[in-house]
Amino acid sequence: MKTIGILGGMSAASTQDYYRELCNRTREIKGGLHSPELLIRSLDFATIEGLQMAGNWAQAGEILNREAKALQRGGADFIILATNTMHKLADQMMQGLSIPLLHIADATAALIQQQGLRSPGLMATAFTMEQSFYTERLEVAGLTPIIPEAPDRAETHRIIYEELCCDIVSTKSEAIYADIAQRLVECGADCLILGCTEVGMLLNQGNVPVPVFDTTLVHCDAALTLALSD
Ligand code: GLU
Repeated sequence: MKTIGILGGMSAASTQDYYRELCNRTREIKGGLHSPELLIRSLDFATIEGLQMAGNWAQAGEILNREAKALQRGGADFIILATNTMHKLADQMMQGLSIPLLHIADATAALIQQQGLRSPGLMATAFTMEQSFYTERLEVAGLTPIIPEAPDRAETHRIIYEELCCDIVSTKSEAIYADIAQRLVECGADCLILGCTEVGMLLNQGNVPVPVFDTTLVHCDAALTLALSD
């Protein structure tokens, strides 16, 4: 079994989901007492969020690069970055490393393609929805992403940072998210990408009328497939 290096803490709420999910799925697949070989580097999200808000992406990239190198030195065979937003810095993060990155958008796009879907709605941070680093990657994979209108983008982003990253889950925000998802479907989305690793705290196949792709779960599945391959 290969060792998965998880660069997480962005936020800690979803890194806990990665750990639980990877353990549960490994047990389902291999049975008995099996559990995944992991290294988890969990950063202080307050530092990262401060750099995001200041637009200091270069310094954030230096931190990710330093920590990815530490995961490689520690014995990781490949890296997963447990946040969609920080994939903005994927190239800088992987500079000077010899192990690969399993990109969250690539894993998600591949699964959507496999299921014959084409136009995913995207609910994520404003960075992920509005900048090109993520939507272009989906387009290169042959998809046509649909993002919410500006007020819905602002509300999606606010709930991520003020609530979900602080482990706060409310029925009010769940209803707001379900309404935003519904509006994306009305705009032509044939499926929905939960393009932030915390959005699955509020949305799932039970409250969204089209197929849901939770990037946290997709990423964990892809990581295990790679970890358990020869
Ligand atoms: N975990 C989130 C994501 O998947 C947002 C937090 C962050 O900015 O890293 O984008």
